Amino acid sequence: MAEKITLNEKNELNVPDNPYIAYIEGDGTGPDIWRATSLVVDSAVAAAYNGSRKIEWKEIFAGEKANSKFGTYLPEETIEAIKDYVVSIKGPLTTPVGGGIRSLNVTLRQRLDLYACVRPVRYFTNVPSPVKNPEKLNIIIFRENTEDVYAGIEWEAGSVEAKKIISFINDTFNKSIVSESGIGIKPMSEFGSRRLMRMALQHAVKNKNRSVTIVHKGNIMKYTEGAFAKWCYKEAAENFRDATVKESDLKPGEDAGSRILIKDRIADAMFQQILLRPDEYDVVVTPNLNGDYLSDAAAAQVGGLGMAPGANIGKYAMFEATHGTAPKYANLDKINPGSLILSAVMMLEYMGWDEAAELIIKGLEKTFSQKFVTYDMARQMEGAVEVKCSEFAAKIAENMKQ
Ligand code: NAP
Repeated sequence: MAEKITLNEKNELNVPDNPYIAYIEGDGTGPDIWRATSLVVDSAVAAAYNGSRKIEWKEIFAGEKANSKFGTYLPEETIEAIKDYVVSIKGPLTTPVGGGIRSLNVTLRQRLDLYACVRPVRYFTNVPSPVKNPEKLNIIIFRENTEDVYAGIEWEAGSVEAKKIISFINDTFNKSIVSESGIGIKPMSEFGSRRLMRMALQHAVKNKNRSVTIVHKGNIMKYTEGAFAKWCYKEAAENFRDATVKESDLKPGEDAGSRILIKDRIADAMFQQILLRPDEYDVVVTPNLNGDYLSDAAAAQVGGLGMAPGANIGKYAMFEATHGTAPKYANLDKINPGSLILSAVMMLEYMGWDEAAELIIKGLEKTFSQKFVTYDMARQMEGAVEVKCSEFAAKIAENMKQ
């Protein structure tokens, strides 16, 4: 009998052997990559646990499917179900044009307070990459997910609200913002920054990472990005004192030993660093907008968005493909399901089902080594065998058992 995953009073997961997991299939190519992903996950769980564990998938609705069934892109029942089932996974969703919703993804993150967007970026042998040593990049990015310019506080140029804010700022603080400007607000709090840093540090301690790097633009935005860095350091000093050491506190030639090195980098410099010295970084913690740019740039170094997994984590966890719906390939059984499959790997690890997660990685590595890949990689890989989305999944399932 399937049971729900629950949280204890400390918000720790309790995962039964036969858990319900909620899924949103997604729009456009979503159904193709969802079919591929569920096949791979079910095969891995069956192979890892010989039937003693099994996922019971529970479909919930958002996006176009929800709109055609219930007349709304994001039913309240879906929000409640994500809370109720605790762990969920989703395909990409179309952003409806008009209708007052900025983005379903942003709305889901805000409504569920999924405050960390977690994006691991690693290389798989044979995957085409634009850099010489893609294997040197192996990082996990913790991007703040609810604050910053994504908080949705902005007004159109010329609107009554924008004019009112501009004249208030100009008159009260003696500034000179051009009156016909659009206005956006960038709120960042100690609470929001520190809880993200806490999650990143907990990850680093658990995985014995060498460093945590705070990426910010505090040289320019002192009281938002600069404060973010200051609050992250404060979290490390107050709650992880014995486990960490600040880079600036090390004497010349001294190394961090078994402690986690806490460093910070200005965002623009970090874009150079991940290209030039990628192996100096493990865990990266950064505000919302920097994280958006940095995670796509890093993903491009190891094979692009088709291979980039992600999760939105707070009290609840929602794992997701990081690319869009790629609508021109919908129902062609063509695109690369790698992003959603790797997101499912993160989900299995989150549940503590590491054996199943490892089998999927093994299957993927072997499939790449045989050069069985979808069109996006085949077009860049010499000697590739181009396979359909479903064939790629079947090959992973076959290879994980050998
Ligand atoms: P997109 O759907 O990510 O697709 C852009 C291009 O990226 C595709 O045409 C394809 O390039 C490549 N691509 C994306 N995913 C791929 C995969 N799995 N395998 C191989 N190639 C892949 O971006 P978009 O066209 O800008 O957005 C379409 C819709 O998705 C919009 O409604 C947008 O709002 C939404 N969106 C949703 C999410 C989300 O749900 N998380 C994220 C971003 C965008 P080629 O044509 O060159 O092969």
